[in-house]
Amino acid sequence: MDALSNRRHLSRDRRPDLLAPDGAGPNFYAIDRGLRELLPLYLAAEDFRRLEPHFERMGELAGGRLDELARIADQHPPVLHPRDRFGRDEDWIDYHSSYREMESIAFGEFQFHAMTHRAGVLGMDRPLPLVAKYALQYLFVQAEFGLMCPISVTDTSIHLIRKFADQALQDYLLSKMLTSNAGTMWKGTQFMTERTGGSDVGAMETTARFEDGEWRLTGDKWFCSHADADVALMLARPEGAADGTRGLALFALPRRLKDGRRNSYRIVRLKDKLGTRSMASGEIVLDGAVAYLVGDIHAGLKQMMEQVNLSRLSHGVRAAAMMRRCLNEAMACARGRKAFGHAIIDFPLLRRQLLKIALPVEQSLSVFLFAASVMDRANAGEKDAAELLRILTPLLKFRACRDNIPVATGAMEVRGGNGYIEEWVNARLVRDAHIGVLWEGTSNINALDIITRAVGKSGAHRVLGAALAKLLDEADAIPASFRDRLRGKLDRALDFAARVANTAALEADARTAAGSLYHVTSAVLMCWEAGRASVDARRALLSRLVLEHRLSAQDPLAPATKDWEGEAAELIFAERKLSLADVGALLG
Ligand SMILES: Cc1cc2nc3c(=O)[nH]c(=O)nc-3n(C[C@H](O)[C@H](O)[C@H](O)COP(=O)(O)OP(=O)(O)OC[C@H]3O[C@@H](n4cnc5c(N)ncnc54)[C@H](O)[C@@H]3O)c2cc1C
Repeated sequence: MDALSNRRHLSRDRRPDLLAPDGAGPNFYAIDRGLRELLPLYLAAEDFRRLEPHFERMGELAGGRLDELARIADQHPPVLHPRDRFGRDEDWIDYHSSYREMESIAFGEFQFHAMTHRAGVLGMDRPLPLVAKYALQYLFVQAEFGLMCPISVTDTSIHLIRKFADQALQDYLLSKMLTSNAGTMWKGTQFMTERTGGSDVGAMETTARFEDGEWRLTGDKWFCSHADADVALMLARPEGAADGTRGLALFALPRRLKDGRRNSYRIVRLKDKLGTRSMASGEIVLDGAVAYLVGDIHAGLKQMMEQVNLSRLSHGVRAAAMMRRCLNEAMACARGRKAFGHAIIDFPLLRRQLLKIALPVEQSLSVFLFAASVMDRANAGEKDAAELLRILTPLLKFRACRDNIPVATGAMEVRGGNGYIEEWVNARLVRDAHIGVLWEGTSNINALDIITRAVGKSGAHRVLGAALAKLLDEADAIPASFRDRLRGKLDRALDFAARVANTAALEADARTAAGSLYHVTSAVLMCWEAGRASVDARRALLSRLVLEHRLSAQDPLAPATKDWEGEAAELIFAERKLSLADVGALLG
């Protein structure tokens, strides 16, 4: 073959249209109908008006530059250098420039760490509402998941220090942590898990000794994400304190001492992880390291749980974000890939798989926006809001993180074999999806927190029930018969949760009961949202799908697809906006 015909052959082969496109490129805010329509429901009108340009900007970055950087950073994980060339234990971690550029977007341009703690971020004359912060996290994570851990844990460390540290410690740490200078700021993290167990926190072995006017920590922390953070919040047992969780105190461990020397702890190893590969998780050994006591020495775990709960909410948001990305990818494939002479979205079986992806995506969006708005209300001192948040947080964390796994696998399958290949984002989404069911408590631990503590001890399900019943009353644009069915499911889900909480022999049902509470919460929220004139009515169809498929008995030996569902699927995947007139007849 001569050179010219060889070139022709090559150019004939360059036919990218043979494969479906990926979901990168568009502005992730602009294409997210649900987010755009729901934000004005959960944010004050003036805040929405002022912040929408920043949602636009983050959407553009997430669909563009951040997405490129995230792909590169995932392929170039951080590297630990345990010693310098003189043999000094000056350990440090090298990050790829792509990760550094993402950090400057997060901590510099957007100042995620400070946005809900002080005025002056994104042009706001006061801290941002939490709904706005989590909406921005949601957009960011559609491109990059790994870095959201250091971002969130810096934010939550600042929260803990502001709330519990004495004034002198606040002055010292917050001046460094709340700065807008991304190059010099101190970032935070949280190390709790030891080899003795992440779930059984009371078994922790790290000790604290008070010596020459300072606390010194000794022990071994087994899972330390953002291992080289400037300040790590951690629990340790002061010498002589009680066993179990009661004897744990909260400390802030600085990486550098006040005179600039390295504190006496070492990052001994980085973990070789399935996902979150752009971010460094390591093991650290504390060798009499200096740490500052935070708050009440007798309330360590109670104080730390504030950070855990904030992280749990953020994990729910991150799962919602990754699931949205999965749905975007699946839709790009379904519309762009041809088989047997048709776009694959035309096949009923494929559309059913798409619905199974879309449903948990929209459920998690509604639940996280609602939970974030409840947190804003709790901060404003609204009665019952803190109790409501108490149950919404683990509900979101438990179920959205769990749903993320089949959603990621489902989206990979829609792309076919290419979804398994690391050049496409699906493979990373599958890897990253799994961590959500581990950190900040496994699914079991979160389900037990919901049922045993939030329902059993606090009775928070009653506040949840009252809040959801009120929303059903408000949704008077939705047919009453449908709302009555939801009301019936709500009552049963609340009774079921209370029964499991009050019956020791039913502990093994905790996940089922917690799952039902999540599903009924999402179904009521989507019904309420669909009843608002500005919101697309397909959310009511999604609400019905939750009711039929997550809250009703199924006969495995009868067809799962009901008569109305074919038409509902057509409508849900239509690109036009739907009104209640379009969907009303399908609400049963
Ligand atoms: C990549 C990565 C990064 C991490 N980063 C951090 C970090 O920065 N800081 C930090 O503190 N931790 C971190 N973790 C640790 C994580 O939070 C723990 O792995 C998690 O809490 C589970 O603890 P464990 O691994 O000790 O498992 P275990 O606690 O031993 O649990 C094992 C199994 O037993 C189950 N189980 C335990 N108790 C009960 C019960 N009462 N009823 C029913 N089932 C039960 C659990 O659900 C789980 O399935 C990280 C983990 C990973 C993988």
